[in-house]
Amino acid sequence: MKKEDCIFCRIANGEIPSRTIYEDQKFRVILDLNPATKGHSLILPKDHASSLYDLPDETAAAALVLAKKLASVLRDRLGCDGLNVVQNNGEAAGQTVPHFHLHLIPRYENDGKILEWTPGKATEEELDEIKEKLTKQV
Ligand code: 5GP
Ligand code: ZN
Repeated sequence: MKKEDCIFCRIANGEIPSRTIYEDQKFRVILDLNPATKGHSLILPKDHASSLYDLPDETAAAALVLAKKLASVLRDRLGCDGLNVVQNNGEAAGQTVPHFHLHLIPRYENDGKILEWTPGKATEEELDEIKEKLTKQV
């Protein structure tokens, strides 16, 4: 279902024009207006889900299959050397539009873009504690 005041719902459903590079019944894929690199695209489900947390399983699965298909298109048509698939959930994680989307960011040798994090440090005890929290039966 579409959400009336959601910009990506309106784009995905064709109410607001966009540079669409792919469309089917469930998804529209558009060029990002502020691309990190040449060909930066966004996979938008046509049904509203604000983030991964409320995305139906079926849509989640189909989105990754579509990302895989478009990965080849971006490589073959744009000659990129690599691809980042990025997906932000929540403001703390950098999400600015609260409608689930996958970023496809083609990468070019020496494009100078940094999507990496600085590796941190954790003690054996800290790692054990996190592992325990994430695996203990509740
Ligand atoms: P987020 O930060 O939520 O993961 O990513 C939102 C992305 O949507 C940004 O990369 C931003 O440039 C892009 N964006 C925001 N509004 C529009 C729009 O109206 N049209 C298009 N094509 N991209 C948009
Ligand atoms: Zn929406």
